[in-house]
Amino acid sequence: MGCLAGQGQPASPRHGGGQVGEPGLAGRNHRRGRPPLSQSADLPGLLSSILVAHGCSPHVATILAANCATAERDGSTSHGLFRMRHYVSTLRSGWVDGRAEPVIADAAPGFVRADAKNGFAQIALAEAAPLLVQKARTNGIAVLAIRQSHHLGALYLDVEPFALQGLVALTVVNSIAVVAPHAGSRAVYGTNPIAFAAPTADGAPLVFDQATSTAALGDVRVAQQAGHDLPYGAGLDRAGQPTNDPAAILDGGALLPFGGYKGAAISLMVEILCAALVGANFSFEVDSSAYPGAKTGCTGQTIIVIDPAAGSDGLAPLPARVSTLVAALQDAGQTYIPGGRRLIARSQPSAPIDPAVWTELRSLLPA
Ligand code: NDP
Repeated sequence: MGCLAGQGQPASPRHGGGQVGEPGLAGRNHRRGRPPLSQSADLPGLLSSILVAHGCSPHVATILAANCATAERDGSTSHGLFRMRHYVSTLRSGWVDGRAEPVIADAAPGFVRADAKNGFAQIALAEAAPLLVQKARTNGIAVLAIRQSHHLGALYLDVEPFALQGLVALTVVNSIAVVAPHAGSRAVYGTNPIAFAAPTADGAPLVFDQATSTAALGDVRVAQQAGHDLPYGAGLDRAGQPTNDPAAILDGGALLPFGGYKGAAISLMVEILCAALVGANFSFEVDSSAYPGAKTGCTGQTIIVIDPAAGSDGLAPLPARVSTLVAALQDAGQTYIPGGRRLIARSQPSAPIDPAVWTELRSLLPA
């Protein structure tokens, strides 16, 4: 059973990203990150136990736990430990299958197709990655298109490992309809993040990772809880009128794409690459209403991997060229290079896990 549009409801029931404790890679940025989390305690082990207790297979739990712990360690707190309650809630609802075994298909010389079987996208990516890399190295470029997948993580973790292997990688994910099209009045797009990674000459890949909406949904919720307005132009209320009130956006309103009609075109592209390319749901087709507590869309993800060796033709290799560009940006006054948060976090000594966070995580384990 699947979750594709027209197929009825699913059955009840970031390789999984860089690893916790990767060597420090500091030096490029000056923006201060949050103190990293201590890994002295077995955090991935605890997260994995929580996920297994709520229906994940040990294989799935290990990949998701590493993904979540790494995001937290990197200072990506909106997609770190904060997400554990959402994983648990979604698993409990029966909307996602924590034991799903993806089916990987060698679809064409440069194309890998994966059916996540209503499981988490990171598992399909982990299983398809070796074939994807092999195809990229053989053909110069390869595509992985995943369908029937759920994604709750930070997207950079899905591309950084390719750049660490000397490859360029781009990925896009669609989600649930919370973003209105340009000049529209109701949500059609997801927050549809896009992440890109390229190797550099100094070893730490250049990475950017961003929603294509004015704000990620998690940030809207955080602003609402904190009683803060969002920046002007962030969204629409339920009547389709502009608002920067997070409560109005969440109460039947919508976010807007970043950058006006130009950003809206990027959201449009993400929907096509994730859903139309491989038969996954568009964000507006996701319907989890029969699964109270579900926090994910069952949609799609596409990853494009390029071997820059195919393009160098005796010229300066891509990593050196990327580093030249970064140096030019810094010379021009750009003090923060995207992706720097993780580099700063990894360069700092670990801080202890907040006991309250630890207690909350343990409360997610059945008594
Ligand atoms: P941000 O707006 O915080 O950051 C976007 C990018 O801009 C990052 O690469 C960031 O670098 C960079 N950046 C931040 N500040 C500056 C600056 N002053 N100068 C230059 N670059 C800067 O990200 P979003 O809120 O859009 O997204 C947050 C996370 O949410 C992402 O990890 C995304 O993948 C995730 N997400 C996941 C979804 C899913 O369905 N799984 C859906 C939507 C979002 P840095 O990384 O170093 O901060």
